[in-house]
Amino acid sequence: MTSRRLLLVEDEPSLARTLRDRLAAEGYDVEVAGDGPSGQRLAADGSFDLVLLDVNLPGKNGFDVCRDLRQGGTSTPILMLTARNELVDRVLGLKLGADDYLAKPFETLELLARVEALLRRSQAGATAAAGTYRFGDIRVDFDSARVWRIDDGGAESEVACSALEYRLLRFLIEHRGQVHDRDRLLDEVWGYDATPTTRTVDVHVSSLRQKVEPNPGRPAFIVTVHGLGYRFDG
Ligand code: CA
Repeated sequence: MTSRRLLLVEDEPSLARTLRDRLAAEGYDVEVAGDGPSGQRLAADGSFDLVLLDVNLPGKNGFDVCRDLRQGGTSTPILMLTARNELVDRVLGLKLGADDYLAKPFETLELLARVEALLRRSQAGATAAAGTYRFGDIRVDFDSARVWRIDDGGAESEVACSALEYRLLRFLIEHRGQVHDRDRLLDEVWGYDATPTTRTVDVHVSSLRQKVEPNPGRPAFIVTVHGLGYRFDG
């Protein structure tokens, strides 16, 4: 099997070197970009299996790079490396299409676990179920793993979802009517062996609602079952 290609966009030379060496020691083929524009250019080539993206970068910050990559059609999984462990940063990154985030400073083992989980997930996503599913003004195409919004005139526009949001939505649809607690969703959708925090689930559900609910403040499809978790009603 050829080694997985990772792009590390990190401007701090000693951290970039440390991470590159550690990831290379795990068998990954790692390329490093030291600023936003060059990172975006390399990532847009689409030849990487995963992008590790710092937020504070010279030239262009990681949020903008992430958003522009998604808008440009790049679907490579993105792991954001946020400087601060602030919810607003995490939510923003996920809204812009990142698949996961890790707050600095982090343990290298934690990073490796996230990288492995993301790569496993994107592999699983590539063998997704066939067909299409409609709810509200949303159409989910399981063949192409894309989500569309249908306007009143019947025209469709794509809803930019991260690979993780798509997997979460697909899981909820495939198990509609069932209540899932946060631990189950972490197991099924995230696939972490070591649970990070169930708050992660809430953050992603919130960003998914912003994208597919007609009124995200009063969800009609991805509903909260108080004290238990989430259920898809569609
Ligand atoms: Ca930085």
